Amino acid sequence: MNNNCIFCKIAKKEILSETVYEDDSIIAFKDIHPLAPIHILIIPKKHIGSVDDLNDDDVELVGHMIISAKKIAHFGNLESDAKITREGENGYKLLFRVGRWGGQEVGHIHLHLIGGAMLSEEIRPI
Ligand code: 5GP
Ligand code: ZN
Repeated sequence: MNNNCIFCKIAKKEILSETVYEDDSIIAFKDIHPLAPIHILIIPKKHIGSVDDLNDDDVELVGHMIISAKKIAHFGNLESDAKITREGENGYKLLFRVGRWGGQEVGHIHLHLIGGAMLSEEIRPI
């Protein structure tokens, strides 16, 4: 727990979020400023700053984040009008931003799950 970290506070329920999945090691919640009909952030409950701070002990945790993102995409309790898979179309983006040049604004590692529409290269719905 990092006392100044907004995502640690979300993990501890000190700041409210719209949680879509949670277990012992991760929590997934809706992004407050969605870039697409579906925009969910998957974070570990323990504080890790970014992908740059990962080490070999985190392999299982990061794998769990990615597999959970896939499960949320396909089976999550998402709005019926914003499914990842709709009318034969499917697919989504998974994104880690890393550091300032990568556009990372929150210093607690998070995996973006973005979808519910055809996405442009700029990660916005076309
Ligand atoms: P980054 O740019 O660091 O990859 O993404 C941070 C994301 O966190 C942004 O998409 C932003 O909208 C989201 N975000 C920032 N603060 C909050 C918050 O308090 N609650 C939620 N649900 N999302 C947040
Ligand atoms: Zn944190």
